[in-house]
Amino acid sequence: MTEARVILVIEDEAAIAETICYALSTDGFQTHWRSTGHEGIECARTLYPQLILLDIGLPDTNGFEIFRRLQTQLETPPAVIFLTARSEEIDRIVGLELGADDYISKPFSPRELCARVRAVLRRSQPNITEPPRPEQTRFKIIAERFEIHYHGMPLLLTLHEFRLLQTLIQQPQRVFSREELLSRCWDAPEHRLDRAIDTHIKTLRAKLFTVRPGDDVIRTHRGIGYSLQ
Ligand code: CA
Repeated sequence: MTEARVILVIEDEAAIAETICYALSTDGFQTHWRSTGHEGIECARTLYPQLILLDIGLPDTNGFEIFRRLQTQLETPPAVIFLTARSEEIDRIVGLELGADDYISKPFSPRELCARVRAVLRRSQPNITEPPRPEQTRFKIIAERFEIHYHGMPLLLTLHEFRLLQTLIQQPQRVFSREELLSRCWDAPEHRLDRAIDTHIKTLRAKLFTVRPGDDVIRTHRGIGYSLQ
């Protein structure tokens, strides 16, 4: 089965990061946002994103340095698209021939961004053509409102329940380990506990049952994790 494509956004301006994450998640991508270079590198190490959208002007370091570290510290460095607001930065990207896959100058349209991301992924991973589309018959994800509709009924979800269910929906049948679900759905590593997954799955199931009693769509794989039936 095709993997959902994970995209990491390293950008210190929340409004820009939110626009990017929204555009990409409605396009079927899994997005994660970090606002400093240090957190971005840590996230890249644990999540193995296929692509990083990397801002150049960051509070703790600059995008060029992050890029260099990604290239030297990761066994399989992800594709990188630089985000830049200044023409001298573009000169530097081009002049240094850093090997970045592309750059986008701010301001950009979400549509343009998605097209660039797809183009870079097609080039860097030619065996994967399209990201899997989220299942749209039973479930409908409304990412901008953190809402999921199940058989036409809106579920009242917490942020973590939303992320968990979204993850499962985007790759039906795929078994996710608890660890994977934690790293994809929880931001703060220090708050990660395996049993948090079980607790949230339990409440999610209860919410799904209110719409369809007895129809258990989340399957438990003993000792491993969960999948969507
Ligand atoms: Ca910035």
